[in-house]
Amino acid sequence: MKAIAKARPAPGLDLVEVAEPEIRPGHVKIRVERGSVCGTDLHIYDWDAWSSHRVKPPRVIGHEFCGTVVEVGEGVTTHQVGDFVSSESHIVDETDPDYLRGDGHIARSTRLLGVDVDGGFCPYAVVPVMNARHTPSIVPKSVASMQDALGNAVHTVMDGPVEGQRVLITGMGPIGLFAVAICKCLGAEKIYATEVSPFRIGLAEQLGADVVLSPAILDISAELSKIEPHGLDATLEMSGKRSSLDLALRHTRPGGRVSLLGLYADTEIGIDLNNLIFKGLRLQGIIGRKMWETWDQMTWMFTEKGLDVNAVVTHEMPFENFEDAMQTLKKGEAGKIVLTF
Ligand code: ZN
Repeated sequence: MKAIAKARPAPGLDLVEVAEPEIRPGHVKIRVERGSVCGTDLHIYDWDAWSSHRVKPPRVIGHEFCGTVVEVGEGVTTHQVGDFVSSESHIVDETDPDYLRGDGHIARSTRLLGVDVDGGFCPYAVVPVMNARHTPSIVPKSVASMQDALGNAVHTVMDGPVEGQRVLITGMGPIGLFAVAICKCLGAEKIYATEVSPFRIGLAEQLGADVVLSPAILDISAELSKIEPHGLDATLEMSGKRSSLDLALRHTRPGGRVSLLGLYADTEIGIDLNNLIFKGLRLQGIIGRKMWETWDQMTWMFTEKGLDVNAVVTHEMPFENFEDAMQTLKKGEAGKIVLTF
C-alpha cells in the first residue's frame, strides 16, 4: 500500500510503498477513511529542529485519522469489526505512574503516533486498542478525523469555567477556531478573538466569535481597555506570540485564568511575575488531551450540545495530493485540510 512518510532525514515527505501492517495482540487494524493534517505534520515536512531530533526515518506520518475496524487482535474485548473509530495520538505505557495518575498525555514514557511510531496516513493502520476511540455516527467523517486536535481545544477551554464568562482567544489557527466554537457551545457570555488573516477572521465569525480584533487594523490592547475595562474572565492563548501573552496578562481580570497552548519560538521571554502574583492570575500550561476525560467531554458535546465545527474543514483532497495540502497550509489560507483514503 502507499503511505505518506518521512523517507529520509531531509525536508519534504514522500509517497512510499510499504507493507500493510499486521494485527498484534491488544491492537486493532483500521481501514483509514479520513486523515487530518496537523501543524506537527508540517514541522515534520519542514524537518525543523524539533522534528529532525525526534523523528527517525523511515516513518509513516499522520496521527489524526478515523476509519473502520477491520480486524481485532488477541485479547481485545472492547472493539469489534465494523466499529467506527478515531485516533488518539498518545501511546502510553499502562504501567507508568504518570499514566496511572491520569497524566498519560504528559507522561514521560508516552510516545506519539506518526512521530515516534508509524502513523495512519495510509490505507491501513494498526494501533493499540485504547487509541481507537469509538465515535458517534452523527459526527461527520472529516470532523471525526480531527478529534485529536479538537481535543486540545476542548482540554484548554474546559480546564476552567466557561458558561457566562467573557473569554479572549488569541490566534485563530485550527485550535483557536475550535475553541471559539466550544466556548459558544458551552454558553460563554462574550467571545473575543484575535487574528490577522482575513480568511481566518471570517471563519472565527462563522464559528461564533462576537468580536474579532486584528492587530493589522487597530491597537488591540487599547481597544480591549475601552470595551472591557474590567478585564476578561479568561484568556486562551493559542498563538505562541509574545504580544498575545502580553494581552493575556494585561487584560485578564484579577483572579482570572490564562491558559497557554501555543508554543513559543523564543522561550526566554521576561514577564512581570509580580503583576501575575498581585493579580492572582491562574496561569496554566495545556498540552494534548486528558486520557480519557477530554474524549468523554467531546462526545458529550457532539451528542448533547450540538457542537458543530464543520466550518473549520476548508479542504478535502485525496491523500496522494499531500504536497498540495502542505503548500496550502503554509499559505495560511486554510482551516483544517482533510485527506481521503
Ligand atoms: Zn495533531
